[in-house]
Order: sequence, then structure tokens, then C-alpha cells
Amino acid sequence: MFFWDPTYTLVIIGLLISMAASSYVNRTFKRYDTVRSRSGVTGTDAARYILQQSGITDVSVQEISGELTDNYNGQTKILSLSSSTAQSTSVAAIGVAAHECGHAVQDKRNYIPMRLRTAIVPVANIGSTLSFPIIILGVILGMNHTLINIGIAAFSLALLFQLVTLPVEFNASHRAITILASGGILATDEVPMVRRVLTAAALTYVAAALATFLQLLRLIILFGNNNRD
Ligand SMILES: [Zn+2]
Repeated sequence: MFFWDPTYTLVIIGLLISMAASSYVNRTFKRYDTVRSRSGVTGTDAARYILQQSGITDVSVQEISGELTDNYNGQTKILSLSSSTAQSTSVAAIGVAAHECGHAVQDKRNYIPMRLRTAIVPVANIGSTLSFPIIILGVILGMNHTLINIGIAAFSLALLFQLVTLPVEFNASHRAITILASGGILATDEVPMVRRVLTAAALTYVAAALATFLQLLRLIILFGNNNRD
């Protein structure tokens, strides 16, 4: 009964939004992954070039396995590109590589939302892991409001994390596009293609935050009434 009440519709809406966003990013990525950049540089070449242009000398670029595993690790100063990004000369791959460089630039410039995001990670992880067990325990213990409210508060930490992620992701893409538009790697007409790929990717973060918000709203609707009796 707990999982199949009418408010579950909110969870399903969130799920549909996330699915729509991820199918949009997949389609956009596939489309521009077939467009070879005229400069012929690979994702790895682009990343090395951008880092050098940005005066970043302490970050190494490496290739890792898996799909969509591209990431920048501020602790190890390693920018990892999945094989399909690292070796591809498509505008989509260059866009992804440039986006990860955007994170490296944020790190170098001490971009505040990125620092905040890193600080929130451990708390958000604990919050999202423990929230449902705490809420369920609260329900089992005869609707213990204190436990239920703690569970909901813990869940809202996951939303907080996703909200802080938004400026970090949008800003990394913005930096990437600015660098690519300044010349050297992409032709002028190739820049809007990268912008489309990175905008689609950023939308998945918006969708994820929206889905989490709907889940939180559901919890508040479900248990808000109980707090009043
Ligand atoms: Zn990113």
C-alpha cells in the first residue's frame, strides 16, 4: 500500500521526464557523433589543447572504458575520457571532452558552486541511502513523526545536491563552448552543434532534479497530514 498510493503518480511523472530527457540527449548525441570535425582532432587532442590554452598544466588526460564514463576528478587531477570520446573526431566527442575541461577550469579558478557540490557529496549520499529506511521504520513504528520527518529531511539533501549540480554543469558547458568558439579546434558552423549536444546533456540534470523534487513532494503529501493529527 505504501508504494502504490495515488501520489505514486508523481514518481511516475518524474520517471517519464527523466526518460524523455535521456532519450533526447541520446538522439542529439548520436546525430552529432556522425559529424566529423573538419579539424580532425580527437576528444583527447581537444582536451589537451583546451587545458593548455587555459594554462592548466597539472591535469592529465586518460582514456577509460565504459560508455558515458567521461569525468574530471579534482582530487587526482585526472580528466578521464571514455574510449568513444577519446578516440573520436566527431563534434559530439569534442563537445564532451571540452565540457570535462570546463570542470578542470572551474577547479583551477575555485568556482564556488563546484566546491559546495564537493562538500555536499558525502552528506547527500548518506541522506539518499538512509531516507527511505528511516521513513519505513517510522511507518512500522506506528507512524513515528520524528523518524518520518528525519527521513524526509535526509531525502531533501539529495535534492539539494542535484540543485547545486545544476550551476556546475551549465557553467562547465558554457566555459567549453566559449573556449571552442574562440577558435583553434572547431569551425564557426560546428560550434552550434556542440552547443546543442551540451544543452541536451544539461537538460538531463534538470530532469533528474525535477524527478527528485516530485518524489520529495510525494513524501510531503503522504506524510504531511499525519503530522497534523
Ligand atoms: Zn559535467
